[in-house]
Amino acid sequence: MEKYTKIKEVGSGSFGVVWKAMNKFTGEFVAVKVIKQSFDSWTWEDCLNLREVKALRKMNHPHVVKLKELIKEQGTLYFVFEFMDCDLLQLMIEKQRMGGAKFSESMVKDWCFRVFHGLSHMHQRGYFHRDLKPENLLLSEDGVIKIADMGLAREIDSNPPYTEYVMTRWYRAPEVMLCSKNYGPAVDMWSMGAIMVELFTLSPLFPGMNSRDQMHKICSVLGTPTEKDWPEGIRLANALNYKFPLCDGIYLPAFIPCASPDAIDLIQSLCSWDPNKRPSAAQALQHPFFRSYYRIPAPLREKYYQSNLKKQPPIQRPVHLKINQQSNVCDGQSEVMLPHKKLEFQLPLC
Ligand code: ADP
Ligand code: MG
Repeated sequence: MEKYTKIKEVGSGSFGVVWKAMNKFTGEFVAVKVIKQSFDSWTWEDCLNLREVKALRKMNHPHVVKLKELIKEQGTLYFVFEFMDCDLLQLMIEKQRMGGAKFSESMVKDWCFRVFHGLSHMHQRGYFHRDLKPENLLLSEDGVIKIADMGLAREIDSNPPYTEYVMTRWYRAPEVMLCSKNYGPAVDMWSMGAIMVELFTLSPLFPGMNSRDQMHKICSVLGTPTEKDWPEGIRLANALNYKFPLCDGIYLPAFIPCASPDAIDLIQSLCSWDPNKRPSAAQALQHPFFRSYYRIPAPLREKYYQSNLKKQPPIQRPVHLKINQQSNVCDGQSEVMLPHKKLEFQLPLC
């Protein structure tokens, strides 16, 4: 680790801490995740077999945070990532604090389009994330969004049943809540539906205080599921002796008045009770909500998203966001520190 100079702590969790650091030779900033657990008795091979390492090594996408190096030194394991400036939760909290306008639909569209690209790459490579939430969607200094924190990632073809703890409650899909043993990448699509609404409203869609309340919140938005909506869900609920609360659901266009009919349609399909009715990430990219992106011919579109993101198409609407205060904010599940930063976001297209 000699080649890195620690600058400051930027995050912590049960695993250990994340430092902002600088490469002494190149001047490049990185994020170093230092794992608390001792790896003294682990071979290098064992480390390479860690779930997060295996998943990250298979990802190479402009919208997935890049693992630059894995270092094992004196029994400590260090993940060296490209450095990201802040996350979507921090931005939403700041927007709320400023009490002003919400994010524009074109901004929500741009972020979602990129995240679906990242997810599609991840799912195609045989992984699903399982813990998508605004805190795990990071933004670089130039406003490029990337999926982070593959700690809970799971191989699609690894054998069910999946039993251990999964996902932050608010973004947890109903099949996971009902203890399905063979959920799949559709859990990430559910999380994206909840995140999309939150980007429009700046409030979590399903802020359950516990598992029961979580299901209640989902029913009060979507309405109680019927056998026709989700036969497997009814079976799962019966197996648990669980009775869905009786709710009518809400009229989404009234709940998110600033969202276009296309946005509402995509949200509704992402938040389908039945995982089989949710679009895949690749299908979501084809949704009319992203119609404006179709103006780029398909071969160029692919090239554009795989190439250097700094070379973006002409900027139509720069958006300036300023984060100028430091504070602790508790969302009921985690504590977030807001950095002193000025961020400039420049949107391509739309
Ligand atoms: P956890 O499993 O605890 O959520 P994360 O990988 O999400 O672990 O890292 C914890 C925190 O560290 C993140 O919420 C973020 O604040 C910070 N962090 C993680 N990766 C980066 C990065 N590449 N750049 C900047 N900060 C990061
Ligand atoms: Mg995280």
